[in-house]
Amino acid sequence: TVVGGTGKFDAKKLEIHRSVSKNVPKEIPPFGTVATDHMLEIDFKGGEWQTPMIRAVEDLKIHPLAKVLHYCPVIIEGLKAFRGIDGQIRIFRGDASMSRMLASAKRAALPEFCPTQLEEMIVDLVRVDKEWIPLNEGTALYIRPLMAGLGVTRSKEAKLVVVCSPVGSYLTSGALKLYANPAHSRVAPDSAGAFKMGCNYAPTIALTDEAAAHGCAQSLWLWGEKQLITEAGTSNLFLFWKDKLGELELITPPTQGGLILPGITRDSILTLAREWAEFKVTERFPTMSELMEAAKEGRILEVFCSGTASVVMPCDRIVYKQKPYEDPVEMSVPCQADGESLYKKLHEAITGIQYGKIDRPEWTRIV
Ligand code: PMP
Repeated sequence: TVVGGTGKFDAKKLEIHRSVSKNVPKEIPPFGTVATDHMLEIDFKGGEWQTPMIRAVEDLKIHPLAKVLHYCPVIIEGLKAFRGIDGQIRIFRGDASMSRMLASAKRAALPEFCPTQLEEMIVDLVRVDKEWIPLNEGTALYIRPLMAGLGVTRSKEAKLVVVCSPVGSYLTSGALKLYANPAHSRVAPDSAGAFKMGCNYAPTIALTDEAAAHGCAQSLWLWGEKQLITEAGTSNLFLFWKDKLGELELITPPTQGGLILPGITRDSILTLAREWAEFKVTERFPTMSELMEAAKEGRILEVFCSGTASVVMPCDRIVYKQKPYEDPVEMSVPCQADGESLYKKLHEAITGIQYGKIDRPEWTRIV
């Protein structure tokens, strides 16, 4: 059952109002800065979903008393549509993204909705703006669903919007340098960290500025006295190493406990790595002291981040501020940029599915 009933929340009721097309830019704009011609908009009023609509992208009008401007009831998603080598358009794991969005809606006390109907309407939106999907490999249409609570009480009024933008490849930007400061945590255990809620992102911006002041692109988020390694920036984190017995192991933090966002790329990596069965795959939190020890003993093979934006990004250096009153130390991490590496193999496997070179129908939806 869905709060307010599914009622009009139905792809068959979708109204499409086509607007005059803007010119599709020849160059890919910076990530998430240029919207396509249309957006999907579904209002929730008086406890009911209203007729869904695809219409011209426009500024939204928001009353200054709207809850979203005060308490931040906002949830977001991020997924992509790809133009494959066969010319077909594929949305990658849209069902997983919609389920995560529904979980976020429940946690944020926002109206519930039917995830499969929303996925259908996103397919319609991508069809309407399909000429915006860039051609080259590495590029995609980034799809950003969001829902904001507008009322002054519990979610009687909300707005669900899906907006898209053409995006380029991240992988060309080389390996990442991460900033690890034990005083910098993204979220607390059992908080809302496992949900894609806007309130998790705003407090990280100032901390990321400190990382940038140390020449780092992103923060390596730590938690607690043991300095558990949780995530990096807005990505999940993987450590590929030899354990103390010399066995190959891929480690990533677990989703239990609410310290990480359950990434869809993370889940894809775990699924593939377990299918390949070439090394041990473990979900647990590595600690900073383990990482330092393994680096000293030469047991680290790779550290990489995962997310929809980049698929995987290797990390080659960590700036570690071990004590608040000491200067940070910089350590280098093996990156295998020139040789064979796990991150490259994973990148190839996942992008292969996204661009239609590898058939994995349960992860792709043809538009
Ligand atoms: N962690 C955080 C905090 C994120 O915002 C994201 C991006 N959604 C991820 C991890 C990676 O998740 P996904 O693979 O689903 O993009």
